[in-house]
Amino acid sequence: MSKDNVLKVVKFGGSSLASAEQFKKVAAIVKSDPARRYVVPSAPGKRFKDDIKVTDLLYKCYEKASKKESIDSVFNEIVKRYRDIAAGIGIDMDLDSEFANIRSAMLHRAGRDYAASRGEYLNALVLSKYLGYDFIDACDVIFFKDDGSYDPERTNRHLGKVLKQHKNAVIPGFYGAMPNDTIKTFSRGGGDISGSIVARAAQADLYENWTDVSGFLVADPRIVDDPRPISVVTYRELRELSYMGASVLHEESIFPVRIAGIPINVRNTNDPSAPGTMIVEKAGEDDNGSIITGIAGRKGFSSITLEKDRMNTEIGFGRKVLEVLENEGISFEQLPSGIDTMSVIIETASLKSKAARIVKQLQKETKADHISVDYDLALIAVVGRNMVAAKGTAARILGAIAKADVNVRMIDQGSSELNVIIAVEEKDFEKAIRAIYGEFNK
Ligand code: ASP
Repeated sequence: MSKDNVLKVVKFGGSSLASAEQFKKVAAIVKSDPARRYVVPSAPGKRFKDDIKVTDLLYKCYEKASKKESIDSVFNEIVKRYRDIAAGIGIDMDLDSEFANIRSAMLHRAGRDYAASRGEYLNALVLSKYLGYDFIDACDVIFFKDDGSYDPERTNRHLGKVLKQHKNAVIPGFYGAMPNDTIKTFSRGGGDISGSIVARAAQADLYENWTDVSGFLVADPRIVDDPRPISVVTYRELRELSYMGASVLHEESIFPVRIAGIPINVRNTNDPSAPGTMIVEKAGEDDNGSIITGIAGRKGFSSITLEKDRMNTEIGFGRKVLEVLENEGISFEQLPSGIDTMSVIIETASLKSKAARIVKQLQKETKADHISVDYDLALIAVVGRNMVAAKGTAARILGAIAKADVNVRMIDQGSSELNVIIAVEEKDFEKAIRAIYGEFNK
């Protein structure tokens, strides 16, 4: 970046701020780069595997309060989390009145979203004090509409103006205000969205999203041993990968920055020297040229296959099939077809209880010669912006899968040539992913 006054918005996830130790790492990261002017924290997350996130403790408090049970033991746990953090980072801060207000609001049936939002609110208060940054409450700058959806225009206008009045600030993630001033949260993990919103309003050069992994990996580390990190991924590739199960960022968090052309850099608070993953609109000269950007997949799919002689000449056949599904409220994932066959791939969860009725209906509408349903399929997406220019990629993928003795049930190359989707039996899912990864990472 050649601009002198570079501005970065940095968001830290719950595990990055779970303890005093983590707070110290976060402060070191923020202070090491003066461009990191606006900080968006999550609530304290898990310190160890079976720990409970503060957000979950807050939901528990809310549930207890609404059943008129005592909230004391859970609430005290929350208080202790913040006291431990404040003591551990050595700040002198009186949070008692904050705790008293929150406790009383909970007992007086403040809403569920209000309860959940207090984790971010308190964490932002502590962090702003620790960093010496201003505190901007998200409920004064992030707005929702009456129907509960996020209000991007109003927020962007107002938040942009407010940020200009603060050189450095901490803005709690995850929540904002409804038109009637009550608190509303985004869905779980929504701190990522808040960070993106702040980055857009600040007209940042970069949105850094700090978490506990060094960005996206080419494949799921639970399946492939020590997979390579992805250094650059485009927004479109990320959509494909997230949809198929790769999860690091909240899916909706890409929209605000994408509109504004701001790249996202996913970084690791526990390994700040790792470059992480850059998410960009278009890969530039620094593109490392690898054909495959990522491999992701999910189990839990089924296919309905229809066969009919001379299907190819029958006008409206596909429409009839899709209409039956539409009437049942079912969306489809893939639609591979042959000359006299057509398959529809559907999530098993949405099909199961309706399968018999759907087959009957399809029979009636299409007069197919044969209809069969196959359960227990997995879909694997092999995603790569460079596949367009690389000849023989599909052949390499299929060859690798065949060598691993796995039967491919379907293959579909997306029309954008950004991805190849393969269906295999669920039992072969991991084996197929390892085979594809191995083929492109020799
Ligand atoms: N604290 C919220 C959650 O646990 C939001 C976030 O962490 O982004 O879902």
